[in-house]
Amino acid sequence: MKNIKDYNLNELKEEFIKLGEKPYRAEQVFTWLYIAQVTSFDDMTNLSLDLREKLKKEYDFHNFKIIKKQESKDGTKKYLFDVLDGNAIETVLMEYHHGKTLCVSSQVGCKMGCKFCASTGINFSRNLTSGEIVEQLLAVQRDENIKINNVVFMGIGEPLDNYENVINAIEIINNQKGINIGARHISISTSGLIPKIYELADSNLQCTLSISLHATNNNKRNSMMPINTKYPIEDLIKACKYYIKKTNRRISFEYALAKENNDNLEDAKELVKLLKGMLCHVNLIPINKIENGIYSKSTNENIMKFRDYLNSKGITATIRRELGSDIDAACGQLRRKNL
Ligand code: SF4
Repeated sequence: MKNIKDYNLNELKEEFIKLGEKPYRAEQVFTWLYIAQVTSFDDMTNLSLDLREKLKKEYDFHNFKIIKKQESKDGTKKYLFDVLDGNAIETVLMEYHHGKTLCVSSQVGCKMGCKFCASTGINFSRNLTSGEIVEQLLAVQRDENIKINNVVFMGIGEPLDNYENVINAIEIINNQKGINIGARHISISTSGLIPKIYELADSNLQCTLSISLHATNNNKRNSMMPINTKYPIEDLIKACKYYIKKTNRRISFEYALAKENNDNLEDAKELVKLLKGMLCHVNLIPINKIENGIYSKSTNENIMKFRDYLNSKGITATIRRELGSDIDAACGQLRRKNL
């Protein structure tokens, strides 16, 4: 059966026209789904009984079941959801001073094979649908009785490898009659699928783009992120400059520091050369050690030196707070342990 949450508002109106219903009915259903957050057609009390029965025959809600929920000492909550076809995905809720941020997955598994990532080793099964991406927000809002303020596409999967469904989900999340989270509070992270970065730049979406950079030259980046052999660093930076020019938005570069790999002063100098003059921010991430992983965490001293060097050269850099490290909150870790 079709998932009612797979449709953005315009698509839902078209569905209703096909059913012989007025488009404004679709708007009512949309509001029930994302503002009232009901979980059955029977709760949509301003629809006639006939229409409710008609909808029940065509669509269902695909409400996720929680397989496991872990809570960290710092308040981070990690969910493992049953997506109802035998697969499981992870979603992480984090508390920041600027509100509640949800880190969502975009695929079941990932094809990119980044060497520092716990999702590597989990076979790619399929893309998540738009409705399954949106359901991660709804399921957490229902469970915690909260309103999410920010969404980051940094869970399992490469969001730009599932471009259409991710963009469609963002339309639902961003729609004022839907979940109503401003585009500037939505962040998409990519390992560097260059053609899709251009497409995103041309789409006029005001989301924040985050690039998983992690290295400053092709040799090193090839060894950490196989995607770099297809889309090398100089082309990636060119695409980022295009994105900034087109959107006038600051790009966030993610840089996970791994001990004796990419955390010395030479790397910091190369990074400055690479990003000089760009409207950007660097997020330094103390790498999470994963089971059988080849990288280990850099020392606090090196992390701070790295940050200070970048800041001294005019590149804004901050060290990301490690959230949920006691509950395997790095992407893929909870799922991997439960398979
Ligand atoms: S870091 Fe992201 S893109 Fe790379 S393997 Fe992990 S989930 Fe995929």
